Amino acid sequence: MIGAGGFIGSHLCEKLMTETPHMVLAVDVYNDKIKLLLEQPAGRSHQNTINLAAICTLADYNKRPLDTIYSNFIDALPVVALDVSTNILSECLFLYLFFWCRCIFCLAPELKKKMYSIIWILLMMVIQVRYCSENGKRLILFSTCEVFGKTIGSFLPKDHPLRKPRVQRMVSSLSLIISNRIAYGVVNGFFGWRCLRSLNWIGSRMDFIPGVDGPSEGVPRVLACFSNNLLRREPLKLVDGGQSLRSFVCIKDAIEAVLLMIVCLHFNQDPFYFKWPYLYIFNVGNPKNEVTVKQLAEIMTKSCVRRPHRIISPPLEVPTIDVSSEEFYGEGYDDSDRRVPEMTIINRQLSWNPKTSLHELLASTLTYQRKTYAKAIKRMMENPTAT
Ligand code: UDP
Repeated sequence: MIGAGGFIGSHLCEKLMTETPHMVLAVDVYNDKIKLLLEQPAGRSHQNTINLAAICTLADYNKRPLDTIYSNFIDALPVVALDVSTNILSECLFLYLFFWCRCIFCLAPELKKKMYSIIWILLMMVIQVRYCSENGKRLILFSTCEVFGKTIGSFLPKDHPLRKPRVQRMVSSLSLIISNRIAYGVVNGFFGWRCLRSLNWIGSRMDFIPGVDGPSEGVPRVLACFSNNLLRREPLKLVDGGQSLRSFVCIKDAIEAVLLMIVCLHFNQDPFYFKWPYLYIFNVGNPKNEVTVKQLAEIMTKSCVRRPHRIISPPLEVPTIDVSSEEFYGEGYDDSDRRVPEMTIINRQLSWNPKTSLHELLASTLTYQRKTYAKAIKRMMENPTAT
């Protein structure tokens, strides 16, 4: 598993190693998130390759565009090619993160540029699917909810009634182009693949805290940003008012879905797949946990007030401040106004439903954040020059 030491990788390793007969060969430049697992004795022989190495923080897409494209696309190509062509493994399962495509979306607000990125996405998918098809390997494709783009409502005037979240609809044309292209045009006869779209997976070990286990000028995702603010007793920063909607799913629930996909791919090679390829593209998210970013900030702050042991000391009197996206992320930031998963297909095909409520999820994550980072942050704040 390449990138096994990251957020998703560490949880997937843990699940595979503690609850299944798999042995994991973990490759990463860091091992702090999987240290405990490294001490476990080796189990049975390995069968799948999983590539989770990618740059996936919004700020990096804007500030380090070339690094992001190299890391998430170009550097990953030899991995894909090597695994299949050397045929070391009895089966290849590529969990390939397509976060690189969202980076290009963020970089290129204009539609014209987005079209170029679509071409890149298709090219990458074609390469992977073709390798797997030719070598009789199976493929689980990690896509992202970014393929939905913005909601139709977000293009309407602010006071337009259709802007209300309940009637906004996802723009799914891009995802349909991709899935249909793969299913019909690229590898006729290959049905050993499934695709999943991750929608705001969060939980322990996510991202980094700037200055502690990541660069001090780095900007992680919203959960780590807010935890960092709370631990430092700073106001939480709401980008452009924090009105964007996100539905957050617990990483542990999401990993259950990945395992179900692996099992189904092994035992259920359904030939009807050609008729309805979209039935094999799964949205992995939790529609019940939908909140605005502002509400997320409120829940996290209240959670700390109720249980002050989750942070160093109670939060400030001014819990949030508004910042512009330009100030926070730099020029060219293009936010997605709403993300909520459509669950019919994953319910029907995998009988999967997420279990963890947002309150539960945030409570356990904040406890983890405090245990992991509180002391280091306190030290840093007491002696800022040391960092
Ligand atoms: N955001 C925010 N304050 C922060 C960090 C992020 O308001 O300190 C917003 C960001 O602009 C976006 C949302 O929170 O609207 C989610 O951002 P995240 O980085 O988690 O990634 P995304 O869900 O957009 O992929």
